Amino acid sequence: MRETFLPFALPDIDESELDEIREALESNWITTGPKTKLFEKHFAESVGAGHAVAVNSCTAAMHLALEAAGVGPGDEVITSAYTFAATAEVIRYFDATPVLADISALDFNIDPDKIEPLINSRTKAVIPIHIGGLPAEMQAILEIAARHDLIVIEDAAHAFQAKYQDKWIGQIGDATCFSFYATKTITTGEGGMITTDRDDWRDRYQVMALHGISKDAWKRYTAEGSWYYEIVAPGYKYNMTDVAAAMGLAQLKKANRMRERREWIANQYHAAFRDCEALQIPYDRKDCVHAWHLYMLRLNLSRLKIDRKQFAEEMKNRNIGISVHFIPLHIHPYYREKYGYRPEDYSIAYGEFSRELSLPIYNKMSDQDVRDVIEAVLDIVKKNTR
Ligand SMILES: *Cc1c(COP(=O)(O)O)cnc(C)c1O
Repeated sequence: MRETFLPFALPDIDESELDEIREALESNWITTGPKTKLFEKHFAESVGAGHAVAVNSCTAAMHLALEAAGVGPGDEVITSAYTFAATAEVIRYFDATPVLADISALDFNIDPDKIEPLINSRTKAVIPIHIGGLPAEMQAILEIAARHDLIVIEDAAHAFQAKYQDKWIGQIGDATCFSFYATKTITTGEGGMITTDRDDWRDRYQVMALHGISKDAWKRYTAEGSWYYEIVAPGYKYNMTDVAAAMGLAQLKKANRMRERREWIANQYHAAFRDCEALQIPYDRKDCVHAWHLYMLRLNLSRLKIDRKQFAEEMKNRNIGISVHFIPLHIHPYYREKYGYRPEDYSIAYGEFSRELSLPIYNKMSDQDVRDVIEAVLDIVKKNTR
């Protein structure tokens, strides 16, 4: 058994982040500026997107994406019941209605077949989530969106570096939103990015991310800047700082190496758990590149004497940090009370949630850490098999 606690997630911070951050601090330009612009450029290139706009969270990114798309009060936006708070709250910011679709039991992603029956004249957009870093069924989603004139905004909080068929996540939907939260595939502490090919949306994101002030507001304190500005809309304060962007630049450089390490860890877990009847390893698709942000293990509860809650406790007792992704939206008090949902309304989401357990998967894990996780899981299974 491990002597020390293995955290569920840790960032990989080394000299390269410290060097970049020091450079930003020493330049005396610490808020949005040259580092942010460079991070946007390199990020857009890395996912093959026309434009990238850096903001201070993925939540902000999705808010801006819906704003530019023209979502308003009474509109409906379809998303998955199986996601984090952020995906649906941004829809509520507009007094619009999040219309939830159930997931595919295969991979936790929104089930395209569940989308079309939910569409009506008020439906404006659809927000698929690439859960854990495995792309949603984008071809089917894009076809439905095209048939009904819907905007597709991807919640790619987990999916930087994922690929759907021959396209990177970030160059598929009308807009794609990424997260650089502390636990995500790359991090800036807090941060986010929106990619799009549309020039008008890129302009709108930039304006709305900085108080609705006319173009390039961040430049007003530079030598070539001007004190004069115009407020064109009641915008938000969503800009990324250069200190955060500096970290992002360093993270971007090692993103590939970090993803490869996560993939290696996933393969170790697959090999260890594949033949265990009490466990179900995550689905992977041959035609996609998985970002491996999460390793979403499932318990075959009929084979076990304990439930997921007890399994999670046993992992903690063995000094292994775990998590659960996600508690479906429809069972949270706000959504339950506001829309009158019952757990069985999204039965697949509810059922899969009840047996999901996310294992640590990050490149800072040593080979021994990986072995410790495997050993803990197999030991719990062995002692609790029915
Ligand atoms: C983390 C996360 C977000 C929010 O990202 P922030 O950068 O923290 O705003 C959105 N959606 C999903 C699915 C997430 O996991």
